[in-house]
Amino acid sequence: MDYFPLFLDLRAQPCLIVGGGEVALRKAGLLQAAGAQLTLVAPGLVEPLAARVATGEYAHHARTWRRGDEAGMRLVIAATDDAQTNAAVYAACEAAGILVNAVDDPDHCRFIVPAIIDRSPLVLAIGTGGNVPVLARLLRSRLEAWLPHGYGALARLAGSWRERVKARLGDPLQRRRFWEGTLEGPIAERALAGDLAGAEHALESTLMAYDGEAATQGAVYLVGAGPGNPDLLTFRALRLMQRADVVLYDNLVSAPILELVRRDAQRIYVGKKASNHALPQQDINRLLVQLARQGKTVLRLKGGDPFIFGRGGEEIEELAAAGIPFEVVPGITSAAGASCYAGIPLTHRDHAQSVTFVTGHRRADQIELDWPRLTSTTETVVIYMGVAQVPHICEQLIAHGRAPATPAAVVEKATLPQQRTLIGTLATLPGQIAAAGIKPPALIIIGSVVTLAERLDWRKDRAT
Ligand code: SAH
Repeated sequence: MDYFPLFLDLRAQPCLIVGGGEVALRKAGLLQAAGAQLTLVAPGLVEPLAARVATGEYAHHARTWRRGDEAGMRLVIAATDDAQTNAAVYAACEAAGILVNAVDDPDHCRFIVPAIIDRSPLVLAIGTGGNVPVLARLLRSRLEAWLPHGYGALARLAGSWRERVKARLGDPLQRRRFWEGTLEGPIAERALAGDLAGAEHALESTLMAYDGEAATQGAVYLVGAGPGNPDLLTFRALRLMQRADVVLYDNLVSAPILELVRRDAQRIYVGKKASNHALPQQDINRLLVQLARQGKTVLRLKGGDPFIFGRGGEEIEELAAAGIPFEVVPGITSAAGASCYAGIPLTHRDHAQSVTFVTGHRRADQIELDWPRLTSTTETVVIYMGVAQVPHICEQLIAHGRAPATPAAVVEKATLPQQRTLIGTLATLPGQIAAAGIKPPALIIIGSVVTLAERLDWRKDRAT
């Protein structure tokens, strides 16, 4: 190990920055965030630094550095654009035993500043020993994306309970188990989702009831997996996929998305093709309750958004009735996916002022659509589950007054590499769909916005 990592408490500590440019500005921001009492030495300052000096946040000596400026400082950063000055600052600090860093000059650094991810009080620091700062920054952006933003709040909450947990649970091993259960389970998830009061309440009751065994309270996460392309998952969805004990998924959830579920999670296919449900809805609802009661973290993974033609509402009504904690995570609904990936904006100032999502699914052998409502020429209509019924749908729209020449498109397997888009009119689309053998999942988009695809379909010229 070339450098010893540590976290330094700089609150109210005198710190010096030599220099007044952009680099000094960045370092000043960091030191200020850590509560340091900051002095700048530089003949001139960039505007934001000057402003902070004016408000009294920093002290400033408007001149070049002199030996002796370092006296009494905890930490000094040399950030001038003159290598000689920086080296002289370094030498003076070394002689006085003061921590010193000359920016971008590893030979003149007693300490180096890592790339950091700030979820205060949780802070991650990454260093490459001054070898490849770019690598540290790349890693940082990956970790930034991976680490939920709520971790800071969770750490603060845990910190505020530390003493009370210690008083209640004398045995260190028992305490560790308690914290492991808390930081991995539904309590943490609540805090990460922003419900701190709920998390605190749950923490308190879990602590009071704690009997040494990891308290197992299950929870159900109803998660939208988007239209199929794994790049379109939300961070929250991905995180829950990697935490679940058991996953219930249906046929809209694509294989590459299932790949991202935790390896040892149990997977249960609950199907859902138009007429051939692998599990009746009632049984799915009941299974969710049962699994959660066993203390499991249950992920109900659904295509698109769980609250758009996904029966998500029905599934959680049952959970709510059974008193099981649950959370709903939105997903990109397939209409949004198909729209973007086919270059068909659903609204457009010149074409459509509103958009309606309807289902073409039959119930008791009837499509229950309010046809007269769907005939406005300034409205886009998106039909989910409509492929099988497309001749009937187009016929009815025409019969109720939409022009046969109204542009219409079908987008099959939207956002996936196999996506196919056909463009036609209400009069031609049924024939085109039959001829091309389009199969679900596919969406039908009707309205004048469809004509924009000719110019806006950014995927058209791809090699794939
Ligand atoms: N909750 C889902 C919809 C479920 S209903 C959502 O928000 O998208 C199932 C219908 O969604 C399918 O019949 C099809 O019309 C549509 N659908 C889902 N994924 C699709 C995809 N990748 N491409 C096209 N249509 C899709």
